[in-house]
Amino acid sequence: MKLGNAAFDLADQRAEQERETGIRAARAALAREGSPICMGCGEEIDPERRAALPSARRCLHCQQRLERFRRRH
Ligand SMILES: [Zn+2]
Repeated sequence: MKLGNAAFDLADQRAEQERETGIRAARAALAREGSPICMGCGEEIDPERRAALPSARRCLHCQQRLERFRRRH
């Protein structure tokens, strides 16, 4: 069914655009210091975490995952 595929394509495109917008916002923020948006997952970083660590670029979840990964390698 062509109509169904077109709807899926549109949703895919929108998701792609949203991802790119998030990446751009994260990169722009990195030009300053830290990031309001996690580099790992693109989600907003907890304001409390940013207040405690203004240069944070990842949410707590992604930071912990990264540190676990680093310890293993
Ligand atoms: Zn994250």
